[in-house]
Amino acid sequence: MPLNEFSLIEHYFSAIGQADGVMLGVGDDGALLDIPAGQHLVVSVDTLVAGVHFPPDAAPDDIARRALRVNLSDLAAMGATPRWFTLALTLPGADMDWLKAFSRALAVDAEQFGCALVGGDTTAGPLTISIQVMGLVPRGRALTRVGARAGDYVFVTGTLGEGAAALQLFDPSVELAGSVRERLKERFYQPMPRLREGLALRGLASAALDVSDGLLADLGHIAEQSALGADLELSALPVAPWLKKLADAGTVQDWVLSGGDDYELCFTVPAENLAAIDGMIVGGELIATCIGRMTPNTGIRCINGNGMSVQVEQTGYRHF
Ligand code: ADP
Ligand code: MG
Repeated sequence: MPLNEFSLIEHYFSAIGQADGVMLGVGDDGALLDIPAGQHLVVSVDTLVAGVHFPPDAAPDDIARRALRVNLSDLAAMGATPRWFTLALTLPGADMDWLKAFSRALAVDAEQFGCALVGGDTTAGPLTISIQVMGLVPRGRALTRVGARAGDYVFVTGTLGEGAAALQLFDPSVELAGSVRERLKERFYQPMPRLREGLALRGLASAALDVSDGLLADLGHIAEQSALGADLELSALPVAPWLKKLADAGTVQDWVLSGGDDYELCFTVPAENLAAIDGMIVGGELIATCIGRMTPNTGIRCINGNGMSVQVEQTGYRHF
């Protein structure tokens, strides 16, 4: 974006968030970051494209929050603490009101989650937001998708299905009550990265990831990485009561199993750590539900309330 590129960056993006270790931030050819001894740098990037990942007319503050939070969710899934991020912004034009709202919301969230914007790129083109987050984890303590063993218990944080249900917001043929609309909107644009949970799971979970593609697909990733399968107890899946009222049981199950965009953590726990996890759940430090077990045979089997294996149709990712 040749038009005032430098003043635009200086004005809107030079003071977003705060974090230790920034030797050189926005304004030079690159950022210079100090990684403390004994820590690994965890890096992840995610791109949001208007019309694909959010509606083209979405509010700039909503876009900013979603863009940062879906990235922070990846750090949470690694058991990392956020520190820094970069922002590659592709804008159709230099709309000052848009930039003001976008950068303000980004600053509030950066502050809340303890990370600082240390650089980026600004170009002209169809609206696209790419954020790269960087976090720290003590060496050897990161949570990864590899490491589950047969017999490990499968857990998920929070409740599932709301991310997929939120797509109804963008379907003009669906009527939603105001309160439901608000809840879904918050879930879509302000998913809560489970950073505290990720930290608490270090040393206890054998594998972890965040649920972004849908539980079946994501648990499938954990299973494949360890050449295992899983039995999933359908009756145990955590679903908010209000969500169940929005559609028939089959549709709700579809949202929960295949919908994605929930940004909860799915993790596996060896039997010897089960008591520690249960203790945190009972103590209110961790909101999580046991939803199944890892199995030596491959594939994810869905088990109904009668203990029978049932076939579940897997639907693909839905774009706008
Ligand atoms: P270069 O031409 O050396 O790549 P740029 O002109 O792209 O530098 O950017 C100048 C400075 O502004 C760099 O420090 C870069 O990291 C920063 N920057 C550019 N765009 C953004 C943005 N959207 N958010 C934060 N920092 C940015
Ligand atoms: Mg550049």
